[in-house]
Amino acid sequence: MNTDQNSSNNNSSVRPQTESSRAGRELAGSDRVNRSLPPETISRLIHTALDARRFSYAPYSHYCVGAAVLTEDGTVFDGCNIENASYGATICAERTAIFTAVRKGHRRLIALALAAAPEGVEPSAIRDYPSPCGICRQVMREFADPSGFKVILAKSPEDYRILTLTELLPESFGPSFLQEQADTGAEQ
Ligand SMILES: [Zn+2]
Repeated sequence: MNTDQNSSNNNSSVRPQTESSRAGRELAGSDRVNRSLPPETISRLIHTALDARRFSYAPYSHYCVGAAVLTEDGTVFDGCNIENASYGATICAERTAIFTAVRKGHRRLIALALAAAPEGVEPSAIRDYPSPCGICRQVMREFADPSGFKVILAKSPEDYRILTLTELLPESFGPSFLQEQADTGAEQ
């Protein structure tokens, strides 16, 4: 069951106007609000996340996760969770994907798909939709407009939920807070 289907409203491009986006210090919320993801983009992201999940290194939790992030120019980067015997060195699939995107020069993110299930279990078989941890939500916040950024919680390409980052991380702290402080200081 898709709770955010947009079959009747799929004529808007996922790609923002690059020049206007770059003009602002931070993307205006209205630039991304209600911007629906085309069904083919949703499918591509979910398929990519499911494929990335196959590379999960999770010998401790045995919980395998894949993620795919869409950048504003349409490029997709994927990631899987990579655990470590020193547990704190573990990184989630979402951050693996996002950090790869940033490493490649992409700092404006549009959407992220997430697929997860215990080792040996297909994501389509799990009871609940996957959900990103708090640290990953904060990392998304760094590179996305929270009201427009779509997080696709996928069991399969046919079964997913879509939430905005604002819904996942309300009243969030982000880069603009520091910039506003700097602006205020400059005026004094
Ligand atoms: Zn995480």
